[in-house]
Amino acid sequence: MVDAVERLVAHPSIGGSPAEVEIQRDLAHLWEHEGLDVTTWTIDPAQCLLDPGFPGMEVDRETGLGVIARWAGTGGGPTMLLLGHTDVVPPGDLHAWSSPPFQPHHVDGRITGRGTADMKAGLVAAWLAVRALRQQGRRLRGDVILAAVSGEEDGGMGTYSLLAQGITADACIIPEPTDLDIVPANGGALTFRLTIRGAATHASRRSEGISAIEKFTLALRALDELEVQRNAVVDPLMERWSIAYPLAIGTVHAGDWASTVPDLCIAEGRLGVALDESPEQARLALEQAVQGLCAHDPWLREHPIDVQWWGGQFAPGRTDPDHPLVDLVGRAHQSLTGATAQVYGAPYGSDLRLLVAAGIPTVQYGPGDSRIAHAPNEWVTVGDVVTCAHTLMLVLEEFCEIDAAVDNTQQEIP
Ligand SMILES: [Zn+2]
Repeated sequence: MVDAVERLVAHPSIGGSPAEVEIQRDLAHLWEHEGLDVTTWTIDPAQCLLDPGFPGMEVDRETGLGVIARWAGTGGGPTMLLLGHTDVVPPGDLHAWSSPPFQPHHVDGRITGRGTADMKAGLVAAWLAVRALRQQGRRLRGDVILAAVSGEEDGGMGTYSLLAQGITADACIIPEPTDLDIVPANGGALTFRLTIRGAATHASRRSEGISAIEKFTLALRALDELEVQRNAVVDPLMERWSIAYPLAIGTVHAGDWASTVPDLCIAEGRLGVALDESPEQARLALEQAVQGLCAHDPWLREHPIDVQWWGGQFAPGRTDPDHPLVDLVGRAHQSLTGATAQVYGAPYGSDLRLLVAAGIPTVQYGPGDSRIAHAPNEWVTVGDVVTCAHTLMLVLEEFCEIDAAVDNTQQEIP
């Protein structure tokens, strides 16, 4: 298990990089090698972008590779999809890492490296759950589909493409880092860009110009107020979070000279979408807040802030917390650990919403903590990966139904 996690983490599969495709090819090879029925297909991102239903993309990508491995059942049982993304976010400041992010290391029961928690270890847990069942000779009536997808972090190209292939299942588990809690719902996240114009002049005569940075600070305050309003009342599944639906600015670019009043400021951010709110409603709320600000400022009235929606557009999504899948994962987890897995919604968008929208009940349950998911020295404990794999084995045996009519001791792989 550790070898498999380390092998996957060693691929620097940052969204848009060649390694994003190479890791998919490597997994296809590994899954084929152990006798699973592997299907791969080429993804054409340019073609995807033509579809108004495409969830968006934030990096340049010329190609992609879809990979699934099917463990065929004996027939008549429900199909379970175990889906994980293999793309990772960039490592950020390398000085903040105590070891190189793509040279995973395993010390004291902990594996460190970019993509360990989010979510290569989770994908390995799913894969090894299937391998262990086959090694024990279990035969299930339903199929199990292992899916590796890319492009999750910047929109969900891989899962979009998987669903477009007509691949479907009766339920799906995504082993994203939930710290082995059960997450049946995700808030949405919409990426936006604000373009704020000012009037440039020499800084020594600054009162005669209009600073785009100063106007940006007005926008920042208006967005802070909007965030407070949008979080005044939240769904019970989201009550554990101090801010259930964050509205945050991630990049600001302004000015090109220290002693010039800047005439352009471009800020990008993400708007959280509430459970059961449509992306259209959320976009309108932000646009109206910006319009309200502009209406009260003489300069902005004449030069309104432009709002663009681009990149990842994650709708919210939810599986009913009373769905039998939630109960099944919870019972399996409890029988192994003696502990009760908590059930709640997560404030981030993920592939869950695409699967739920396609009619596939989906929950997230996986090793690692989402807090350290995009942080330096990202890590996961081997113990949690093992627990996740064991839970998934129990879930598969019950959900896909052990076939009592056949020999359940004949090993499928030596
Ligand atoms: Zn993830």
